[in-house]
Amino acid sequence: MSAQPQIELIGIDKHYGSFHALKNIDLTIPKGQFVALVGPSGCGKSTLLRSLAGLESITGGTMKIAGDVMNGVPPRKRDVAMVFQSYALYPHMTVEQNLTYSLRLKRVSREEMKRATEEVAKTIGLSQLLHRYPRELSGGQRQRVAMGRAIIRHPKAFLFDEPLSNLDAALRVHMRKEIRALHDRLGATSVYVTHDQIEAMTMADHVVVMRDGVIEQQGSPLELYDSPATRFVAGFIGSPAMNFVNGRIGADGQSVALDLPGTRPIPLGRAAEAGRKVLVGLRPEHLVACNPLEAPLTLPVAVVESTGSLTYVTTSGAAEMTVVVTGRSDLRAGDQIALTIAPDRVHLFDGETGRAV
Ligand code: ATP
Repeated sequence: MSAQPQIELIGIDKHYGSFHALKNIDLTIPKGQFVALVGPSGCGKSTLLRSLAGLESITGGTMKIAGDVMNGVPPRKRDVAMVFQSYALYPHMTVEQNLTYSLRLKRVSREEMKRATEEVAKTIGLSQLLHRYPRELSGGQRQRVAMGRAIIRHPKAFLFDEPLSNLDAALRVHMRKEIRALHDRLGATSVYVTHDQIEAMTMADHVVVMRDGVIEQQGSPLELYDSPATRFVAGFIGSPAMNFVNGRIGADGQSVALDLPGTRPIPLGRAAEAGRKVLVGLRPEHLVACNPLEAPLTLPVAVVESTGSLTYVTTSGAAEMTVVVTGRSDLRAGDQIALTIAPDRVHLFDGETGRAV
């Protein structure tokens, strides 16, 4: 992977009337990278992607693709390909006609079109289906045609807008791998919008978490998981979501006391400001059962749910916590669960600003 930026967004602003949808967004995407834009509904991720495609005009900042400034350049001259959740296939055209539509507009020769179609159909595994109409295809096949239509143009970047939302869970997991493998094979640069953090984490090299029109944090999937910069990112990345409890750093600065009956101070992996009020973040998968005599947390069990491979335990009391136990568990509602956590797994956030401390 070369470090040359394929996409550069510098100070991007977007207003819809008086509504400020994108606020000073800076993002550099190297050639060959797979970037996911993720965040809750309304955070601005689709607006950012559509601005990159030229489907929305921006109200401030500079947008570059392969070094060229794109502000004001119409969509078809940007040399990027969008793949939508709705597939956006032409229903009255066969797979082959859908694939070659953009080439016909460019008046590419018949032989060249045939060669390109065969190559792309092979790449996406649709060689046998070229004469079918979209209504005669499954959801996954339609999504592949939509991909093929993007690939055939050899764009400078692929822009995906929630492309898998219409597929069932099993197919979604399969298509995730297929899209990522295709990206690697083509040496493509991809920007992928999703509200599904698992999709973002599993597919992308670089994840951009957005909130209210700003980039809250960006980094590799594991950087975001291991070192969330804010309470928002901590709660958004990871499944089940991180538990949060109010607490106070001990007088020694080496432990944190939770504001929760049935708990004792939890040792910290590093020094913190003695006496400071904090929000403590504990991931469900980092809470581990231990000897009750040594447990910093002893909590009443409210619900036990097993998927076979994992057991989810929800505690009751002043703060509901989720604990993930690998494998089976003999616990039942009404039991007590004794838990500990490794000192370097304890996350601390400022109660006011939500920033990691
Ligand atoms: P979702 O996951 O629901 O699609 P999103 O993060 O992609 O959400 P956007 O579609 O980018 O969000 O919208 C960002 C904000 O801008 C939202 O608050 C939305 O209501 C607003 N918005 C989007 N398009 C317009 C428009 N044409 N006019 C006014 N406001 C808009």
